[in-house]
Amino acid sequence: MTKYIFVTGGVTSSLGKGIIAASLAKLLQARGFTVTIQKFDPYINVDPGTLNPYEHGECYVTDDGAETDLDLGHYERFLGVPTSQANNVTTGRIYQTVIQRERAGDYLGKTVQVVPHITDEIKRRVLLLGNSEKFQIVITELGGTVGDIESLPYLESLRQLRWELGTDNCLVIHLTLIPYLNAAKELKTKPTQHSVKELLNTGIQPDILVCRTEHELSMDIRRKLALFCNVDVNSVIEARDASSIYDVPLLMLKERLDATVLTKLRLPDRREPDLRAWKSFLDKLNKPKTEVKIALVGKYNELPDAYKSIYESFVHAGAVNQCKVKVTPIHSEDLETDKLKEIINLLKEHDGVLVAPGFGERGINGKIEAIRFVRENKIPFFGICLGMQCAVVEFARNVLNLPNASSTEVDRQSESPVIDMMEEQKQITIKGGTMRLGAYECDLRKKSKAHAAYGVLKISERHRHRYEFNNQYRAQIEAAGLIPTGINPSSDLVEVVELKDHPWFIGVQFHPELKSTVETPHPLFVHFVKAAIDYKRKKSGEK
Ligand code: GLN
Repeated sequence: MTKYIFVTGGVTSSLGKGIIAASLAKLLQARGFTVTIQKFDPYINVDPGTLNPYEHGECYVTDDGAETDLDLGHYERFLGVPTSQANNVTTGRIYQTVIQRERAGDYLGKTVQVVPHITDEIKRRVLLLGNSEKFQIVITELGGTVGDIESLPYLESLRQLRWELGTDNCLVIHLTLIPYLNAAKELKTKPTQHSVKELLNTGIQPDILVCRTEHELSMDIRRKLALFCNVDVNSVIEARDASSIYDVPLLMLKERLDATVLTKLRLPDRREPDLRAWKSFLDKLNKPKTEVKIALVGKYNELPDAYKSIYESFVHAGAVNQCKVKVTPIHSEDLETDKLKEIINLLKEHDGVLVAPGFGERGINGKIEAIRFVRENKIPFFGICLGMQCAVVEFARNVLNLPNASSTEVDRQSESPVIDMMEEQKQITIKGGTMRLGAYECDLRKKSKAHAAYGVLKISERHRHRYEFNNQYRAQIEAAGLIPTGINPSSDLVEVVELKDHPWFIGVQFHPELKSTVETPHPLFVHFVKAAIDYKRKKSGEK
């Protein structure tokens, strides 16, 4: 029988429920259990695909083409196991399902209500992954904070599930904050006591408290929390601020969170977690032998979460290369102003430039300026999705001498639409879930740089876009030196381009950052960092 663990949050948002859930999952996986994590988000959007990155950070895309919350990225990076649509559910999706069922007459004339119809649908979705028989343990992260109006149907479903599954099969972890009052020089437990009371109001007694804190939790504080929140003292877990999210599994191991969970769920505690690969990653991460500077040219730089997976991919790729990768965010729009010279000078100080994915017109010309500079100056370049499309436009404008070359996303009337809307996208008018989404196969050209990085000729990568390389210009672009080295075998879409006579210039239509994990860093990021290390070495005249 599958065991269910729920993670709720109290006191404040942004405590890192996703990282705690992923860290616990890692420890349980390292003990030999099959584990997955799912997230329930209490907002009305059917998925985060239509949300602005400023609102919600990056939209993470799964193999099956679901547009999901960025926490799923953490789950995959920690566990190395792909997630799917079933791993992320929103209130909007729950209601959509219930309303569609009502319209189909499935409720046989009954009044459709939050309890039991919405709560039943929540429970069905919680149990879906467990019922797939692929996992021994399912961890469900409930988004939002206890006390939010939106969270109530989820908490009611959780209360019912606990009753139905039995306490041996179901566990509630409450993540909370223990603030430190500087004036009193004291950690304060009251917000947590209130938060647990709030949870008790919904009929749920947490089994384990995970306490975010800047300072050590003394035994006194632990005892006090245990007494006032009805948990045993071993179930008060300290979660100290860590310098890297990748340290958290080891902190949780030290606090014996995994062992406590196993005892409570009556699961066998057969062996200590095997964390050799994880620790070896941390060792390399913490002992870099060299350092490179990468510029990340994008337009959502105010919110680093908008490029979460890219930043994390650099952490993974840096570690295997034993190289600290310092990423400088550069605003693409600044390259369109009188700051251009200043920013180009800044780019010169970098060992590689990544041009980020994105949508719409804003900042496009800035991205093109940056690409021109790195192409001409032979600085390693990595273009992702919109970044690849900008590289094609730049090449068409400045090498093929097509001054009006553009993407039709930016200029519908372009004389030379080197990037154009995909045929099947042209009829689509609704926005949600309608892009080319999810994993597609791609054939690499033998002896290309992409082939050298992946080491294989057939790859599969995840996509999220409406526009594509226009094959009418393919021969002309290739003849001039920008080579399509990755092609989708069934649609003939160009998925990878590489520049001839350049140390490392690769643009990809897909999102490699979504598949980089701690234990399998993405080959293109690994090779891009390598290229940056070589570039830096050459620049400083070393061997
Ligand atoms: N806006 C571009 C498109 O829709 C690129 C999308 C992206 O970078 N994810 O094709």
